[in-house]
Amino acid sequence: MNVFDQEEKFMEQNKMDHIELGKQLDFFMKHPDVGQGLVLWKPHGAMFRYLLEKFSKEAHVLNGYQWVSTPHIGKANLWETSGHLEFYKDSMYSPMDIDGEPYYLKPMSCPFHVMVYQDGIKSYRDLPIRLAEIAPVYRYELSGTLHGLTRVRGFTQDDAHIIATPEQMGDEIQKALDFSLYILRKFELKQFKAYIATRNDEKYIGDPDEWINAEKLLTMAVENAGLDYEIDAGGGAFYGPKIDLKLMDNQGREWQCSTIQFDFNIPQRFSMSYIGQDGLKHTPMMVHRALFGSVERFTAMLMEHFNGQFPVWLAPVQARILLISEEQLDYGEFILNTLKKKGHRVELDSSNETLGMKVRNTQIARIPLMLIIGEKEKQDGLVTVRYLRQKKQQTMKLDDFLQLLVMEEAKGKAEVIF
Ligand SMILES: [Zn+2]
Repeated sequence: MNVFDQEEKFMEQNKMDHIELGKQLDFFMKHPDVGQGLVLWKPHGAMFRYLLEKFSKEAHVLNGYQWVSTPHIGKANLWETSGHLEFYKDSMYSPMDIDGEPYYLKPMSCPFHVMVYQDGIKSYRDLPIRLAEIAPVYRYELSGTLHGLTRVRGFTQDDAHIIATPEQMGDEIQKALDFSLYILRKFELKQFKAYIATRNDEKYIGDPDEWINAEKLLTMAVENAGLDYEIDAGGGAFYGPKIDLKLMDNQGREWQCSTIQFDFNIPQRFSMSYIGQDGLKHTPMMVHRALFGSVERFTAMLMEHFNGQFPVWLAPVQARILLISEEQLDYGEFILNTLKKKGHRVELDSSNETLGMKVRNTQIARIPLMLIIGEKEKQDGLVTVRYLRQKKQQTMKLDDFLQLLVMEEAKGKAEVIF
């Protein structure tokens, strides 16, 4: 067994949780002076998020969503109208005083998106409208429940709002679910469970017939997508039923990530409307949907799912150049600059460590490609590529390696799915 195999075997045997992985990958940190449940993303972790969010934004824009951007805080009036101060206050932070008026940090982006919708009269011809944002939100969580990236007090939500006529809603739910499944599959996630959470007879608003109809649309979408599902009877929010897709972590715990939720409350509270074909004002239907759920939690799921060994398109560092001796430093730097100028994420280990130690460090950092450079590679303009996931090694021309990187990156390109 050579030095490569020993380390790789070790990593396979030890499925770590994302907190331990986070240290090895150097992704994130916390600090008592910043506060509990608040995450500082270090360069590798922040690059990972950048890639995640970039993919998500491209996929949304390609698939009929409009991107919006809204503030971190809003006046108390807004949260009164939305019902947050009535039903959600325990999860919100104390207000801050600005010019004598109370403002709250946002726990969700929904009311802001409603404001964007309401800017100007909407006709049935404008619908459906799909507004998306990846936004930081802040929610109070008990300190005892805080955990790594999966339960935090400041997180980033990819909430989007679909506003449609009742006739359009069935199709929109199906699209939202298909989009959600596309995203999960793109990230190679297959371990998830679908739940349809229905009305709690003790606590709900809206017309029971509306609920029955909405639950039917959610069930149809899940069945059309060919998913096994469970009914979470009475598990719906007070404002509407939902589909939840829950992902499993390495300890077998389920975490809610994707969700598609009807909302019978907000359209009424904000008097949202559109002009129908009959020339009269109607109330549109609204759905909230988050696909990652929380970028923090989704990152944790991906770290554990891949055991930190991300595909090349998603890896914050794609390749590390390892020199056999200092003699190859100039060629190593040439490769580094060539690849960086093409937009690839590459590092050079120019330390005096032995090759064995450099290999080990690269494996612990889970960098998917190692470029081993000796005298032969330098003389002939070659690179010897060691693949972390496939466990194979190949010597090729630098140009061919560039082609390979381009091919690997294409796997992370967002596609039109409907
Ligand atoms: Zn929302």
